[in-house]
Order: sequence, then structure tokens, then C-alpha cells
Amino acid sequence: MFVHVADVARTPAGSARLGVDLARPGVRWPDLRDRIFGRIDPIAAAGRRYRAEDNENVTLYEGTARFTGPRRLAVDTAQGTETITADRVVVAAGSRPALPDLPGLHRTDYLTSDTVMRLDHLPRRMIIMGTGFVSTELAHVFSALGTDITLIGRSDRLLRHEDTDVSQRFTDLAADRWDVRLNRTAQRVGHDGDRIRLHLTGPYGAETVEAEALLVAIGRIPNTDLLDAAAGGLELTERGTIKVDDTQATSAEGVWALGDVSSDHQLKHVANHEARVVQHNLLHPDQPITSDHRYVPHAVFSSPKIASVGLTEQDAARRGIPYVTAVQDYAGTAYGWAMEDTTGFAKLLADPDTGQLLGAHIIGPEAPPHPAPDPGHALRPRRPHHGPRPVLDPPRHARTHRERVAQTRRARRPMTDRGGHTPGTDPPR
Ligand SMILES: Cc1cc2nc3c(=O)[nH]c(=O)nc-3n(C[C@H](O)[C@H](O)[C@H](O)COP(=O)(O)OP(=O)(O)OC[C@H]3O[C@@H](n4cnc5c(N)ncnc54)[C@H](O)[C@@H]3O)c2cc1C
Repeated sequence: MFVHVADVARTPAGSARLGVDLARPGVRWPDLRDRIFGRIDPIAAAGRRYRAEDNENVTLYEGTARFTGPRRLAVDTAQGTETITADRVVVAAGSRPALPDLPGLHRTDYLTSDTVMRLDHLPRRMIIMGTGFVSTELAHVFSALGTDITLIGRSDRLLRHEDTDVSQRFTDLAADRWDVRLNRTAQRVGHDGDRIRLHLTGPYGAETVEAEALLVAIGRIPNTDLLDAAAGGLELTERGTIKVDDTQATSAEGVWALGDVSSDHQLKHVANHEARVVQHNLLHPDQPITSDHRYVPHAVFSSPKIASVGLTEQDAARRGIPYVTAVQDYAGTAYGWAMEDTTGFAKLLADPDTGQLLGAHIIGPEAPPHPAPDPGHALRPRRPHHGPRPVLDPPRHARTHRERVAQTRRARRPMTDRGGHTPGTDPPR
């Protein structure tokens, strides 16, 4: 909802080149903030009421839960600690903003994505630490509403998990709009009156940036530490997520996990999909189904917007998967002319032999579907479960990578995605 407001507020900035002069927006932050939370907060309250009062099958314990033994939990509530045991347990404890080990941070009123959207007033200047989707989306939101943004990153690009061409284009465009400082290491943070001062080192030596607000958006960590997963017999991955198999079962008998607490994707539609799998497997233990993580699309709702699914070029190269790419600029299409867009493009990766689509990445206006459907459903291949694989025509202006293809063909092996599935073998549902 904030991104839509930001897109509206940004409209005048891009309208003059079309021959339409729009006035600079006046932003009533308290009105827009209260309108958005006036819609969201009652939904949360209604969800709580349904569980607490209206559903006789649910007993709600409000507090932080932790395992104290196999399928045994202690919940610290306002009334004291309650112990719960169950035959079956589902863990969906999500993730929270990661915080850097930065001297002085806990003495400042730093913000995270949990708090920044409820600010009393728009800051004149905001420092954002982080280069991922949360930081770039919130940079777009607040800059469109009038806040000057300084974006700090440790690496040399923004959104570096995107396809390299996409991430580089985004980084170049962001530098035109925000004060982007990359290859920087934060050393300490302090106050100077109302201003926060962040001390950095980087390619130009020591430097200090200051602003009225500091937003920390360097990533999200799974809430497994709060849960004392080990006490419940739950194994963790190296990343600290709960280890699950493809039925979402954990290493502990009778315990399932789903969503950010056990997933590398950290996406809502992935959590929803896994919730449906867990629901089925609880109800039908003799006919378990598996999660399908082969085609996981995602979007970045910044400016420009990004939509992506499948392999990036660097993924394919790293894994020795033969591919060809095709790039189509928005500027080479009629709709791109209509928008006078000069920076957007779509990039496809495909198997050079079959034309099977391996990855698709779009950066530019309306890149993600608008309004976004549940992409996990929208992009599943529309075919019978055991029918032929979807095949694209070989791209017309395909850029071949013959050396890499020749090299990797020799060492060709079945392609597996991050979820460990082999494309073409549909999991049972
Ligand atoms: C700013 C932002 C923008 C995002 N935008 C998108 C987007 O556009 N599209 C998208 O797909 N995803 C987006 N995401 C990610 C998405 O919000 C998460 O992937 C999704 O919410 C994960 O759902 P979940 O149920 O696993 O966890 P959560 O929604 O985090 O829910 C976990 C719940 O468990 C509670 N909890 C945690 N620990 C305990 C405990 N020990 N005891 C009891 N309760 C506990 C938490 O308080 C929370 O209520 C965004 C995230 C952020 C932060």
C-alpha cells in the first residue's frame, strides 16, 4: 500500500517527458499512514478475536514460545509461563530484521521495517543500511514522499541476488536518485543533537553521513533462536533455519515447519504454499504431498520495479548449465515508446537445445503483474502433471555463450533448482 502511494507521488517526476506537466505532490504523511494502518490493523485485530473468542477449537496463548522438550513448549504470557504439549506441532515463527554488530547502535533510535512505516512525521533525510529488497523498496517509498535518502551497502551493487544485468541497471539508476554509497563498512553510530551520525570506511577512506533517521535493513534472520529449537529436537541448517524435508517435516517426530523460519526464500506466497502442504499432510498422513519450490517468482517493488523467476545468468554459469540469453529493451517495443522508457528490459535464459525457459528477469515499469496475483500459482506450468515440459521457441535474437555451452555440455548433469528438485519430475500433490 505504501509502494502504490509512492508510485502515485512519483508520477509528476516522469510526466513532463510525455508532454504532461503535473504539479509537485503535497504529501500528507499522517493521513496516508493512518489510512493504510486503519485498514491493516483491524484485520490483525479481527484475526486475533477470531482465534481468541470465536473459534472454539482454538486456544490462543499470547507470548513467546520456546521448546522445552519434544513437542513440549513453554509460552511466556502476561499471566505467567504456560506449558503446552501436543501430538503434532507446526512451527511458523517467521523471521525478524537482522541487526549489525555496530557500536552505538543500541543507544540510537534506529528504525527497522517493523517500525519505520509508523513514524510520526517524515524525516527530512534518512540513512538506510542495506542493499536488498526491503531497503530498496523503503528507499523508493520515502524518497517519493520527499525524504532524502542515503543508502549504505557493503558490496558493490544493490540487489545483488538478482541477475547481474538487472542488479547493475538498478544500481546505476539508484545512484541518480539517491546518495548511494557502496563498498562501505559501518564503524560506529552516534548522535549529534537530533541527528544520527554514521561513521563509515570505504574506498575514499573514512567518512560520516548524518540524518534525522537511520533505517537498518540488512536482512532478516529466522526466529529459531527464540524457539530453542534444539530443545525440541529440531535440527537447523547452516543459515539457522529449521531443517525440513520436502513434506515440511522437521527432524523431530510430529513437528512440521513452514515459512521464513524454515525457508531460504522468505516470501509470503512460499509460506502460503507450504502452509497448504502442511495442512494436507496433517490431515492425510498416509498420502503426504511435497512442496514445489521449482518455480518461485519474486518481485521488488522499488523504482524501477523488478520481476524475476528461475535461474539468473550467474546461477547458470556457476552451475555449469548451458544457456542462451535474449534481452529485449522496453525501448524497442511500442509500449516502451508510449512510456518513453529508456532503461527497462526483459532478459530470458533458455536451454540452447530445447528452448526451455530457465529464467526470466524484467526491470522496468509494471514488471511485476499489477495487482500481483499469487505468483506461486500464476507461474506454475499449465500442463498435465506428467505431460511434456513447457518449451519456448528459441529466442530470435539469442546471444549465445558458445564457449561456456561447449564447456558445460561436456560436463552436463541434471539441473536441480535451489529446492533440490529435478525439473520435469512433478512432485505428488
Ligand atoms: C518490509 C517487507 C516487505 C515484504 N514484502 C513482501 C512481498 O512483497 N512479497 C512477499 O512475498 N513477501 C514479502 N515479505 C516477506 C513476507 O512478509 C514473509 O515471507 C512472510 O510474512 C513470512 O510468513 P511467516 O508466516 O513465515 O512469518 P511471519 O509473517 O513473520 O509470522 C511469524 C509470526 O510468529 C511470531 N513469532 C515469532 N517467534 C515466536 C515465538 N517464539 N513464539 C510465538 N510467536 C512467535 C511473530 O511475532 C509473527 O507474528 C516482506 C517482508 C518485509 C519485512
